[in-house]
Amino acid sequence: MSSQQSQSHERRHDVVVIGGGSAGYAAARTARDAGADVAIVDQGPLGGLCILRGCMPTKTILRSAEIMGLMKRAREFGLAPVNARADLSAIVDRKNRLVQEFADYRIASLRDPRYALYESRAEFVSPHVIQAGGVRIRGESFVIATGSRPADIAIPGLSESGYLTSDEILDVRHAPASLLVLGGGLVAVEFAQFFARIGTKVTMLQRGATLLSDMDQDVGQALAAAFQDEGIEVFTGVSFDQVTSSPTEKTVHFLQNGIVHSRSAELIFHALGRRPNLQGLNLDAAGVRVFDGRLAVGADMRTSQPHIFAVGDVNDLTPIVHLAIQQGETAAFNATHPDEPARVIDHRLDSEMVFTDPQVAMAGLSERDCRAQGIPYLTASYPFADHGKAMCLGATHGFVKLICRPDTGELLGAQIVGPEAAELIHELIAVMYFHGTAQDLLRIPHYHPTLAEIVTYPAESIVEQMGRA
Ligand SMILES: Cc1cc2nc3c(=O)[nH]c(=O)nc-3n(C[C@H](O)[C@H](O)[C@H](O)COP(=O)(O)OP(=O)(O)OC[C@H]3O[C@@H](n4cnc5c(N)ncnc54)[C@H](O)[C@@H]3O)c2cc1C
Repeated sequence: MSSQQSQSHERRHDVVVIGGGSAGYAAARTARDAGADVAIVDQGPLGGLCILRGCMPTKTILRSAEIMGLMKRAREFGLAPVNARADLSAIVDRKNRLVQEFADYRIASLRDPRYALYESRAEFVSPHVIQAGGVRIRGESFVIATGSRPADIAIPGLSESGYLTSDEILDVRHAPASLLVLGGGLVAVEFAQFFARIGTKVTMLQRGATLLSDMDQDVGQALAAAFQDEGIEVFTGVSFDQVTSSPTEKTVHFLQNGIVHSRSAELIFHALGRRPNLQGLNLDAAGVRVFDGRLAVGADMRTSQPHIFAVGDVNDLTPIVHLAIQQGETAAFNATHPDEPARVIDHRLDSEMVFTDPQVAMAGLSERDCRAQGIPYLTASYPFADHGKAMCLGATHGFVKLICRPDTGELLGAQIVGPEAAELIHELIAVMYFHGTAQDLLRIPHYHPTLAEIVTYPAESIVEQMGRA
């Protein structure tokens, strides 16, 4: 197409959002509500990672694994044992049905006539113009929200042997007899437990010192203990040597404490992280600086080009969906209110949840964060194994840990490994939101017997420690 022709196709919008996933859709909605003329450009499939291949499909299949786990324990609860057998194809069908429902809703929102939706790949041709299929689009501001993709990991022989990422493994319909999980982050642990519970022999190979190595060590250790109890083999602190394969199995050779090990399985699941998806955006033409494949953004979500923002997984800050949404809203506000003080992201209440059994949840500062930032703190934890309601439920793995200021008792952070951790942490987030204290946790009424009342035990211990100080 000649430049004259493309000029004739040029459209103009106040805010152009590239990527209609969770972050991009939040930005588009916020900009539209502020009265802006908004374009969304998405290459498809429409729906975004969270709905299509992330949060929702994984939580759907994990429910089957959770029920399977309970059915296998029937005798422990005085019930006649059943011969529970998973039908992975039926689990995938249920997942697909629900994902379709969630995606239909999102797609209808994207096709709302109040947005101009361009279903094509976007590429910058200059700081204020992108090419989207046959259309040139000029924008006052841009919000890049193109998400992430599985990282390329250079382990000799891995590509040749073949592996699946979370994008593909969700559609596997025949459970493998055995699975090697490379990685120990949230995606790795959720899938590891899912497959173990439906009958696959699972081995985890994690490079970090513990599972979930971005959290305090006791968290990953508690989860590993629970996993080992249900037969998942967990290696931590490994370095990968190479992968070899035969027609029937793949073998990962690795080192742990200087000793060479190898484990073989029918399938390898690569869950060694994701990278920002910047492919093909031509950010050079936009004048946006990229360092080591990553976009740097300020707390106001602006890139090095003040009228171009980057939100969600693409900026690699916190690949968590509610934070992606918050970033999208912040960017759109700043794009549409240039004369007002910029809104910035406050990370004080950041949280991360993992939907294994036991669940894992953290909010605010960890002990590691406090040490790294020189922040004084008191901490106390209490095990679910000593908690009445958890004992009634037969869910005794894990603990609740609080991290508080030594002078005032203000709750700075919390970590929970245990039943319903992802629900329980929200009480603690609410207390942190209001700058509440350990003393407040003791004053807030907690019904008995509930899982929620467990937070009062470490709170009591913090208050005692403050009294002694
Ligand atoms: C297996 C898994 C489980 C997860 N579970 C959870 C969970 O339980 N809770 C949680 O909070 N987070 C979870 N996450 C993370 C969460 O899914 C992501 O943080 C979130 O979905 C990122 O949203 P986004 O809008 O940044 O990107 P995406 O949703 O990926 O959206 C990016 C969009 O950009 C489009 N696009 C890309 N390039 C272009 C281009 N050049 N031109 C036009 N369009 C383009 C794509 O088509 C896509 O629609 C999980 C992730 C994975 C992988």
